Amino acid sequence: MIGEVKRKVSIIGAGFVGATTAFALMNSGIATEICIYDINMDKAMGEVMDLVHGTSFVKPVNIYAGSLEETKDSDIVIITAGAGQKPGETRLDLIGKNYNIFKGFIPDIARLSPNSILLVVSNPVDVLTHIAYKLSGFPKERVIGSGTVLDTSRLKYVLGKYFNVNNNNIHSYVIGEHGDSDVVTWSNGRIGGEGFDLYAKQMDLEWDGEVKKVIEDDVKNAAYEIISRKNATYFAVALAVNRIVEAIFRNENSILTVSSLFEGQYGLKDLYLAIPTVVNREGAKNIIEIPLSKDEEERLKESATILKGHLKECNL
Ligand code: NAD
Repeated sequence: MIGEVKRKVSIIGAGFVGATTAFALMNSGIATEICIYDINMDKAMGEVMDLVHGTSFVKPVNIYAGSLEETKDSDIVIITAGAGQKPGETRLDLIGKNYNIFKGFIPDIARLSPNSILLVVSNPVDVLTHIAYKLSGFPKERVIGSGTVLDTSRLKYVLGKYFNVNNNNIHSYVIGEHGDSDVVTWSNGRIGGEGFDLYAKQMDLEWDGEVKKVIEDDVKNAAYEIISRKNATYFAVALAVNRIVEAIFRNENSILTVSSLFEGQYGLKDLYLAIPTVVNREGAKNIIEIPLSKDEEERLKESATILKGHLKECNL
């Protein structure tokens, strides 16, 4: 199905997330060419040397450390460059630092790969995706944030453990900001077509506000818990990014909670937030306006208000 077509991915930033994303892409075989650019060329070179020594174990892929110019004609540009989240620091604390970093390379990326899809992973991802959208001048479909694809996977993991069901049979979303104000959409959650309430009853499991709160907190605090132990999170996000890249290259029309530009959905517009979105070869094709409970919609709007405040600080 994939054939011999060129599928060039450039990764901006060869840190923990950039390097593991390259490793995930290399393992999945979805890209034919991976160019890794980092302001610290030695870091990019070192990661590439380590990666290419494994290429005899995977599908053919040309991996190299390149200059910004060498990202030219990429199909997808994944942006992981930026300051990482330090212990005790929120993602939103990173805005100022990463805004300046983005100003340094987004216009060049847009010039070098004018038909590419930009996939922003750097935090705060929703704000930085908006910044990339503005700085690139690309249509909204072609500027996507990794959003809460990772958070949704974390939720499925925690629910899978609680209900003792394969994560893949659990349908539930985390939407809104990838961060402290994210929203779990309990009202539309399903296991094998059944609502959580009914499923829990059948399994004789407790299912009340307290249980949900513990699960929400587990998901919300996951990054902080990991960062306090190993200073960064990268394996799961790399797999989440690989999943988005697959959905794009395979023209899957898959529904993923990427960060997409709102244009009136739920009464919100002119901001990027994570929401179930159809992802295909054109990028973030369209937002699915899933039914939300009153409380969930209010919390989504609160998340939007927080992000709007941050966009204002950046004059966007
Ligand atoms: P890191 O510090 O290990 O790597 C960042 C890399 O960016 C470094 O190698 C640095 O040299 C490079 N860099 C800095 N400025 C650059 C520039 N102007 N041009 C090119 N490269 C530049 O950090 P990390 O742990 O890899 O995290 C990267 C980003 O990803 C952070 O913003 C982090 O918060 C974010 N992140 C997002 C998610 C998510 O789900 N969206 C999950 C984990 C981490």
